[in-house]
Parts: sequence; structure tokens; C-alpha cells
Amino acid sequence: MEIMEKNQEYYKLVRDNIKNLIPYSSARHEFTGHAKIHLDANENPFDYHMYNRYPDPLQTVLKKKISLLKGVPVDSIFLGNGSDEAIDVLIRIFCSPGQDAIHILEPTYGMYRVAADINDVEVHSTMLTETFDIDEEQLLDNIHPNDRILWICSPNNPSGNIQDQQIIINILNQFNGIVVVDEAYIDFSKEASMVSLLKDYQNLVVLQTFSKAWGLAGLRCGMAFSPPWINKLMNAVKPPYNMNEFTQKYVSEQLDDADSVRKEVSKLLQERDRVFHFLESLQSVNDVFPTEANFILFRIQNSQEIFTALKDQGIVIRNRNNDPLCSNCLRVTIGTESENDQFIKQLKILTK
Ligand code: PMP
Repeated sequence: MEIMEKNQEYYKLVRDNIKNLIPYSSARHEFTGHAKIHLDANENPFDYHMYNRYPDPLQTVLKKKISLLKGVPVDSIFLGNGSDEAIDVLIRIFCSPGQDAIHILEPTYGMYRVAADINDVEVHSTMLTETFDIDEEQLLDNIHPNDRILWICSPNNPSGNIQDQQIIINILNQFNGIVVVDEAYIDFSKEASMVSLLKDYQNLVVLQTFSKAWGLAGLRCGMAFSPPWINKLMNAVKPPYNMNEFTQKYVSEQLDDADSVRKEVSKLLQERDRVFHFLESLQSVNDVFPTEANFILFRIQNSQEIFTALKDQGIVIRNRNNDPLCSNCLRVTIGTESENDQFIKQLKILTK
């Protein structure tokens, strides 16, 4: 099928009110050139505040740099107040409240469900296997006619494993809805991103973020890469000035120093190996799950006591015991060498 026909097929999934939406046109949308005097946006003219002007609503400078780094055209890039904003925007574009559903693969990142709940959108789910892989056949069997978006988290939070790209491709070909691949942790993985498939699939959205490997969680900058027809809708639905001026400038500067990020990631991967082997060496640890992210999920006897005892020592990790397939599982993020040392030291004492 031609790309245009495919677009039209998927365009049918868009909510009617979004198809008919006339987006808000801000002062900075309407005037993009260079002006001597700006009296169009009801701003305070005194610039000693530094941030007296509204930011670029389409984050043009930052997107150009991201485009070069990721090899994705600017009209396929959406930037949000964290990738959490992209999750919410996608649900609001494709799912009518009280009518449509999303499909998730559990256990997975909790915000897909929360964002759906907030929007009064039903959540259908299929379990991952015991090793947290996708059971393709079961998933395709479980797909419900109302499912508009399927979320695939890869590497998956909380398990850390990456999903087989061929399986994702099979799903893209067979699922009659939008497939969102959340690659928040892709910079820690040896596998390639799925952004290279964007030109081939009109129903693919890839999420990434500056919150993890880039070390900028506090700035709230997430990315969604999608075919231009989806990107246009995302920009129409987002609040006009969803990314502040400081974040746009700062992230833009950080992009000139991708080498430092690579060095930090490689240090974190060494540390990940060290913590992984330590956990494997403990008698009371029953499973250490293979990970392509900056955290490790492990199954340990007396997980609740261990979790609480670590907390009492000031070391906070995540208790995933209540997640499906995660009984007695804890998730630890890889910290600095000395933070990991302290985690290792305390865990040694507690498991003696
Ligand atoms: N996706 C996954 C899988 C995550 O784990 C997280 C954060 N924990 C996010 C998205 C949200 O990231 P952001 O900071 O970009 O909103």
C-alpha cells in the first residue's frame, strides 16, 4: 500500500474532535521573523528578567540539532515536557474517552495506564512471558477491536530487557492501530533504535527522553518521533508553550557535548556489570534479569525486609513485588561507583 493510503487508513483512528480542531495560534506562532519591536504577546518588555519573552512554541533550534543527532527530519520530531507529556497527548489524539482503549504489555511503565485512566480510556493488557519477552501470537489474539494504541516499552521498565525488533515489525504490520515504542532507556542498549523504521511505518511512534542517559531529568524534555501526519496532530494538541525557554537553550547546548554523555554511559555500563555480577553471586538472589537499561531487576528472598532495611540505611531502591510476574522483585538503579559500593556493602550485610 502507498504511504498516502496508509496515512488515510490510520487517520481514521483520530478522534473526530481532534480532526476538526482549530489549534490555538499564539503570537509567536503567527510571527516568526525578526522584528525591531515586539508588542504582540502582552509580555513585560523589561528584559532584565531574562525570561520575559515567550519561548519558541515549535522549539526550532533544538529540533534542528536533535534532527542531526538522530537522523530524523524536523517534521517528525515532537518535544514535550518530559516524554510523559507525549504519552498523554497521544492518548488524547487517538482515544475517545469512554469508548476506545489502549493495550499494554505487563509488567511495564505505569504511566501508560495512569494516562489512560485520567482520560477515561480503557486499558487492555497482555502479559509478557516469564523472561519479559513478547508472546506475539498471544498478543495478536488478545488485541481488542477498540484498541487504538499499543505500548511497547523497549528496553522495558521494570525488567530492563529489550524486545526483539522483528517481533515489533510483525506487530506493526498486523496491528491496525498505532504502535508506540518507548525507548526511554535506548542509550544504554547495544541494540539500535527503531527510529530508522519511521519512514516505512505510518503507525509507528518512538519515544525517547533527555531524562535518563543525558542526565537532564530535572529539565523535563522528552521526544516523540513519528511520521509527519502524527507529528502535526501532536503539535496541534500540545499546550502552545509546552517547553520553557531555559530548557530549550540548555538542552540545545548539551547536544554539542554528546561525547561526555557517551563517556558517562560507558562508565554506567561498567558499573551495571559490576552490580549485576555481585547480585548473581548472592545465595538469596534467585534471579537477576538481563538488562539493557540503567537499572537491574532482581528476585530475592525476603524482598520486603531487604527493601525496608536498605531504606533504613538511607538507600532507596524500588520495590516491584506488586507488579505482575515480579513477586519478590526489587529494582535498583545504577548510581555512581561509591553509591553502588554502599548498596553492595549493605546488601552483603543484610544477606549474610
Ligand atoms: N518511559 C519510561 C519507560 C520511563 O521509565 C520513564 C520515566 N521513568 C518515562 C518514559 C518518562 O520519562 P520523562 O522524564 O521523559 O517524562
